[in-house]
Amino acid sequence: MLFETRCAGCDAPGLAICRTCRFALVGPPPEAQAHGVIAAVPFTGRAREVVLSLRNRKRRQIARHLGGLLANRLVEAEVHSDLDVVTWTPTGSRWRRQPGFDQAELIARTVGRQLGVPTRRLLARPGPVTALKGKRRSEHLGGPEFAAKPGLSGCNVVVVDDVVATGATLLAASDALEQQGAHHVTLAAVASTSAALGAKVLSFRRAPRAVAA
Ligand SMILES: [Zn+2]
Repeated sequence: MLFETRCAGCDAPGLAICRTCRFALVGPPPEAQAHGVIAAVPFTGRAREVVLSLRNRKRRQIARHLGGLLANRLVEAEVHSDLDVVTWTPTGSRWRRQPGFDQAELIARTVGRQLGVPTRRLLARPGPVTALKGKRRSEHLGGPEFAAKPGLSGCNVVVVDDVVATGATLLAASDALEQQGAHHVTLAAVASTSAALGAKVLSFRRAPRAVAA
């Protein structure tokens, strides 16, 4: 059968995410991250399979499911009450196989809908993305460069990515938003890799700011 649906977590035929994998995704939240990112699931086991399938295959249904999990986590973390806007880190060319498909955007839009907060495209990657060619993101500790839309003065923003590892991408996004006046930026990701990686970026990026403040 040409369009047979298979589970994104275990490949069983039937639903986009089978019952077993759905339950597996509703585990305890990942360990607190040194870079302060709020994540819904650890990037391991079935959760990892599901998130990867979102990148590798065009699956809007899964994006909505994962976005729902992240929205719940943000409510638990009590960051939703004074939010103004939800946005996302625009996907680099590495993952963008289908024009117009950005998994972080799909997740962010679900989060915004569930929290009753508008979702807006606030970030862009200026210049050619090829500048990062040959460099792994993890080696690029400063993260990619983003430009944020002006006029965010006093705004409380949630910025969403699909997977967080070093935190460099989300921190770079946060910097760009703060440069345009954002008051408070919450960093959020569907899945996070081990917390150990985060500490490196934290000391690299956050220390100078703490001194300045
Ligand atoms: Zn499954």
